[in-house]
Amino acid sequence: MARYTESVCRLCRREGTKLFLKGSRCYTKKCAFERRPSPPGQHGVRRRKVGDYGVQLREKQKVRRVYAVLERQFRNYFDLAEARPGVTGENLLRMLELRLDNVVYRLGFAGSRAQARQLVGHGHFAVNGRPTSIPSFQLKPGDRIAVRESRASREPFKMAKETLRSHQAPEWLSVEPAKLAGTVVDLPRRDQMPLDLNEQLVVEYYSR
Ligand code: SF4
Repeated sequence: MARYTESVCRLCRREGTKLFLKGSRCYTKKCAFERRPSPPGQHGVRRRKVGDYGVQLREKQKVRRVYAVLERQFRNYFDLAEARPGVTGENLLRMLELRLDNVVYRLGFAGSRAQARQLVGHGHFAVNGRPTSIPSFQLKPGDRIAVRESRASREPFKMAKETLRSHQAPEWLSVEPAKLAGTVVDLPRRDQMPLDLNEQLVVEYYSR
């Protein structure tokens, strides 16, 4: 599986905003964007004029990087979102939110989507009782995600019951800390998804 392997903090500096890709480190003084907010590279500090295309491109890249999806897969999501009834941009964000790795992150099992993806990839979770190790697995209302019984005593989940209790999951998810599980109770509404992403610019980018 192809994936981005360079420093993710460069991505924040490139997009000019904190994307919170590194879990708890993002909230500390060690955050690379806090220390050096200029774009990466030798000419990063130069001021550049950005046109409409540049703005749309940057927003598309930002959304893609927040959810850690590579270009081709992201384009596939967009095509599916366009084919579905409703608002394309909202459909797109909804599909990204309903990825298994994102839901594991939202439920509070991981401090970042990257960590959630790793936990899913290692086969620690079951969806509706079936072991599932595909990070992009699309969930739907009614699906129950749980740490597999055989994995519950492993290192990443030793403290999870306490962490889940204090974690604020979005309203479209319900959490059962004692059972190390959670359920998708509803489709996420736009106001329950990240508000700092402008999906309309992504639609404009692909509609050129
Ligand atoms: Fe971005 Fe987090 Fe790195 Fe800061 S620490 S630059 S928010 S990934």
